[in-house]
Amino acid sequence: MARRGVLQAALERIDPDELVELTRELVRIPSVVRPGDPAAGEAAVARRVEQWLATEGFALEVHEAAPGRPNVVAWLGEKGSGRCLLLEGHTDVVTEGDPAEWTHPPFAAELTDGRIYGRGAADMKGGLAAAMVAAAAIKRSGAAFRGKLVVGALADEEGDMLGAKHFCATPIGRELDAAIICEPEQNELCLEQRGVVWARVAIHGRMAHGAMPEAGVNPIVALGALLDEVPRLEKRLRRLCRRSPHLRPPTVTPTVVRAPVEGVPQSNVIPSQAHAVLDVRLTPGPDERAVAAELDAACAAAMTRAPGATIEWRTVNGYRLATRTERREALVRAMVKGVRQATGKPPRFGGVPGSTDGTILRMTLGIPIVTCGPGNRLIPHQVDEYVEVAELVAAARIYVASALNFLS
Ligand SMILES: [Zn+2]
Repeated sequence: MARRGVLQAALERIDPDELVELTRELVRIPSVVRPGDPAAGEAAVARRVEQWLATEGFALEVHEAAPGRPNVVAWLGEKGSGRCLLLEGHTDVVTEGDPAEWTHPPFAAELTDGRIYGRGAADMKGGLAAAMVAAAAIKRSGAAFRGKLVVGALADEEGDMLGAKHFCATPIGRELDAAIICEPEQNELCLEQRGVVWARVAIHGRMAHGAMPEAGVNPIVALGALLDEVPRLEKRLRRLCRRSPHLRPPTVTPTVVRAPVEGVPQSNVIPSQAHAVLDVRLTPGPDERAVAAELDAACAAAMTRAPGATIEWRTVNGYRLATRTERREALVRAMVKGVRQATGKPPRFGGVPGSTDGTILRMTLGIPIVTCGPGNRLIPHQVDEYVEVAELVAAARIYVASALNFLS
């Protein structure tokens, strides 16, 4: 664990005003990914992050996760015989929706009553700025530590997580021993994240006249049977998954149904195909094969109730299983101590309702991750998104203390 004087010196190098201004500056650079608009996206905000870190004297690399979609990766120190810790943030934000619905304009980064308002203030330019300022404070203080501290500002978390997937395949990604995911979790230590599997279901029947259903196979009947299987599927998945005090139990939610899939819908035509998407949310426990077996079973049960129809499914975007990091992990111990040192209070524990870049890091690299960052857990993707300045500053302090603990 970090020595007291070293830690104090580093904490003192956090300038709250600078952190607030950096967050506001990042919020003012819109980074909503709008397909077909090459000027939108992460590039401009990534450039600013790169510039800021370069000015602070960090070693850094920019990797194109996809054309025009850069990851900025900066670091202090060398891994050597020590550990490598990542402070992770993403640079993309979700759409602001209708700006007229906002009381505070979505990209003005207004500062009122101790809050910064704007799209991405919490999710997660605030957390990213806190990570940057924390790493800079450690650097400025000259604190000696063993190993390597990495700041990663990754692209496309809100989409396919291309940034995290790309980063895992780079030499620095493969060096990592642990990661703090700086997502808005009201600075709670989240050791668990729910997983998600989107199952796209294709149902094949045979086209026929609506007056003579016996002449065809109606895929909509099979679709109905499948939807009827959903509560049973959900119950089986709940039995397979571990219960958690911090996560809602698994859910299976139909989010898309479509028939006909091709051609014009007509009142007297039985279509040949129907589609559906099941949004399956999981808690830790089952592996890919176990989840697939339950989905297969639901499809098979629906098929026996709709003779002649075939039901197939595949994942959209693969499996993002639920993740869990054990309390005994060195990173968790470093953060439990770090929260006390940074805030004077014991840590609060929580869970992440959805998946994050941390899911990819955990599944691909097998490293322990803890999600902890400033911002109300429920505020992301809403209008009038905000981050509390006090939480923002506390997050930077927690990152400094946790990193020095982990890397000492
Ligand atoms: Zn996020």
